[in-house]
Amino acid sequence: MSKIRRHQTQNELLIFERSSPGKIGYRLPPLDVPAVAADEALGAENVRGEIAGFPEVSEVEIIRHFTRLSTWNYAIDLGLYPLGSCTMKYNPRLNEAVARIEGIVDAHPYQPQALAQGAMRIQQTLERYLAHIAGMDAVTLQPAAGAHGELTGILLIRAYLQSQGDAREVVLIPDSAHGTNPATAAIAGYKVKEIASNERGTIDMASLAAAIDDSVAALMVTNPNTLGIFEQDIAEVAALLHDRGAQLYMDGANMNALVGVARPGDFGVDVMHLNLHKTFSTPHGGGGPGAGPVAVKSHLEPFLPVPRIAEEAGALRYDHDRPRSIGRVRAFYGNFGVLVRALAYILAHGGDGLRNATLDAVLNANYIRKGIENDYHLPYDAPSMHECVFSHNKQVARGVKTGDIAKRLIDYGFHPYTVSFPLIVHGALMIEPTETESKAELDLFIDALKSIAREVETDPQLVLRAPQTTRTSRVDETRAARKPILIWEPPANGA
Ligand SMILES: *Cc1c(COP(=O)(O)O)cnc(C)c1O
Repeated sequence: MSKIRRHQTQNELLIFERSSPGKIGYRLPPLDVPAVAADEALGAENVRGEIAGFPEVSEVEIIRHFTRLSTWNYAIDLGLYPLGSCTMKYNPRLNEAVARIEGIVDAHPYQPQALAQGAMRIQQTLERYLAHIAGMDAVTLQPAAGAHGELTGILLIRAYLQSQGDAREVVLIPDSAHGTNPATAAIAGYKVKEIASNERGTIDMASLAAAIDDSVAALMVTNPNTLGIFEQDIAEVAALLHDRGAQLYMDGANMNALVGVARPGDFGVDVMHLNLHKTFSTPHGGGGPGAGPVAVKSHLEPFLPVPRIAEEAGALRYDHDRPRSIGRVRAFYGNFGVLVRALAYILAHGGDGLRNATLDAVLNANYIRKGIENDYHLPYDAPSMHECVFSHNKQVARGVKTGDIAKRLIDYGFHPYTVSFPLIVHGALMIEPTETESKAELDLFIDALKSIAREVETDPQLVLRAPQTTRTSRVDETRAARKPILIWEPPANGA
């Protein structure tokens, strides 16, 4: 680190290094009960004499420490977060306010059902809206994320096919798929067979027709796919599968391109998941909770996880008496706070608002695509839906790869796009702006990418050494992943 003291936020000590014996940041109120020695109350063996290296700091030091650390993170509240496939949109504060309403935030999953009718009504209402948006017949809110929804959905297909006499052996998956798709199929006990994409970037119908036989349980497809291209033959795909007794699973992670415009149920999907933390406005990216509700057509409804929400004479209850159910997939009924945010988001937008969000998301992705299509190589030249995928082909001749361009974007003040995914595009730059960005923000981003493309021509070292504006520049990513240093050792002299 340089001797010159850069801005404080770039030069933060560990909280332990700020420690000075005797400093305190908080004072407990005077006791209003008789004092008892800790070892008498708890037993001497349970009392620690000293906590090694416990930091002693003042209030202002601790506030500044964590506030500075918080500025090291890029956030959607700072600017565009164009991670493709992730739908990192801005989450309206209104949804946060609703999730913090007293009766909602203090609700307890063990509350008697008679006292939880409001919370259950929220769940029932959300299920109905999601079913309507997806064009499906029933929804469970239980799965905790997209991948968990996939597993639930494929287990539903397995249970359904088993009830027809044969669970079958194979799940077909296009080569553009997200890695969770084949992982899900394998965990659910299926063999995975890959389907090639055609030159347009969509499922090759001849390969699909050749692969479908009576051993195929399902096709798992993302639509629009991970290239941001709509699978225009999807209705024929569904018909081909149904003719052979197979099911169509849709990975709904890209529903931000469809909500209010097209309904998977209408184009033949039997079961799908939704990522509430992508499309329906729950903050994510920091490892917080998500939700992956699963929507099904009526023939799969009897197999949905227990419990289900049932209503009799206006009273809601959790119904566990479902003999054909695949069982439980989650404690209680899912990540409730996430469900509340999704319903608040849907109600605040209304039907027209949701549709507008979709149209703007698609417009923004196409605006970026047009903006940089002369500067970066576009491997599949079909109209974009909510995201667009370029490759580093033009830059790689100068020794610059997609990861380098991504790091240079950090110097321009942006979070990088998704690097090297989908796998069928070598050196991919996958960009998803979402509907929440203004034209001004998109123009800044386009200018940054154009400027980086020029730097690659004139001074590639600038790009190869990036980022330079951050506290640390490049780290050894392999060592960081394989040998992370997770334990802090207090200095021997106690300083
Ligand atoms: C995000 C994503 C998933 C997995 O969803 P999680 O909620 O992260 O488990 C699956 N498929 C696609 C296409 C995705 O973008």
